[in-house]
Amino acid sequence: MREATALRTTRSEEIMTRAARLFPGGVNSPVRAFRQVGGIPRVIDRAAGARVWDVDGNEYVDYVGSWGPMILGHAHPDVVAAVQDAAARGMSYGAPNQLEVELADEIVAAMPSIERLRFVSSGTEAAMSALRVARGLTGRPKIIKLAGGYHGHADGLLVRAGSGAAGIGRPTSAGVTEATAADTLVAPYNDLDAVARLLDEHHGQVAALIVEPVAANMGVVPPALGYLAGLRRLTADAGTLLIFDEVITGFRVARGGAQALYGVTPDLTVLGKIIGGGLPVGAYGGRRDVMSVVAPEGPVYQAGTLSGNPLAMAAGLATLRALTDDVYPRLESYGSELETALTEIIKGLELEARVVRVGSLLTVFFADDARFARFFHDMLERGVMLPPSQQEAWFISAAHGGAEIEETLAAADYAFSEAS
Ligand code: PMP
Repeated sequence: MREATALRTTRSEEIMTRAARLFPGGVNSPVRAFRQVGGIPRVIDRAAGARVWDVDGNEYVDYVGSWGPMILGHAHPDVVAAVQDAAARGMSYGAPNQLEVELADEIVAAMPSIERLRFVSSGTEAAMSALRVARGLTGRPKIIKLAGGYHGHADGLLVRAGSGAAGIGRPTSAGVTEATAADTLVAPYNDLDAVARLLDEHHGQVAALIVEPVAANMGVVPPALGYLAGLRRLTADAGTLLIFDEVITGFRVARGGAQALYGVTPDLTVLGKIIGGGLPVGAYGGRRDVMSVVAPEGPVYQAGTLSGNPLAMAAGLATLRALTDDVYPRLESYGSELETALTEIIKGLELEARVVRVGSLLTVFFADDARFARFFHDMLERGVMLPPSQQEAWFISAAHGGAEIEETLAAADYAFSEAS
């Protein structure tokens, strides 16, 4: 792991020294701490379009994109104006507002599987609540998740299979009880037989299966041909609800999310990120009958002081309205150009690395984490900010264009040859 960088990072270092005293690992969410790549995290001062600037004044082409929400690029003028307008009308009411109805209308129009929904404040809350709905509706205790899938940090979801095998989950985090983990069954991703076996072994016990329809939290892994349709068939046969976690893929791989792209209809959908335009928003929704179990209409309790917050709703609404149909072909063409060029560099150098991409989500998989760490820092020094882990996706935005691709590829030319 390399510490030294050519860029000046004095102010980032000063602030991170203070942060280290105040926050565990110096951060408020673990991956920001650079543990997988070493070195000092850059403290961000501002962002605009496809770029971010750190507190030392260094400029970067940004592929973190706040981990997904910033599909239009940073500080999009429509979104900034909408939030300013909302803020001037008061920050939060704890009572209904019009913006939440307008944002819900946009979501329902884009995703026909969602007839009704509930807004919450994070993807974690949304996934946790969707599972409660599934259990409340079916009266069944267990759920299935796929190994390597991330659905936020609720107790029952911080579970994965030991050595990738199907079976009863083990907690991935201290503080999660074995009893909670025992209700989470785990199957390998892209393995329908394993899901069929679990549903068979736990017949009548599985309330829901939750899946990232394009896995994006173990690096980008697309669903195998027929996998999502297979999950649909198996869960329907077992009376198990199929939940698509589209926190990353919703409004990104297509306006209608992965369910539109792959033509498979889930019972419940979990959303976040883009629908909040960079402010804290999550949502879960689905068929009318399924969502009718939610309080105050039904017996499944779920609530939130800041749910439907007017600033957050305004940011989401402005984002979805600015996210016109022409954005998707542009994201695809930037993504495809980047994928092709990176693959060529890798081939030319005979590197053990591979580019995987679905639309504007991309990962470069290296044979080992040390090579990725080196590559990451070489990119950073040359002004390209990648997610500081190869288990994460690079996020391309509508603000990425010709200049950004040129800078990215110039940096990658250097960084790949150093990593070879
Ligand atoms: N689901 C998926 C697929 C995610 O990628 C994430 C976060 N990256 C979450 C849920 C949790 O969302 P949040 O961080 O907003 O709680």
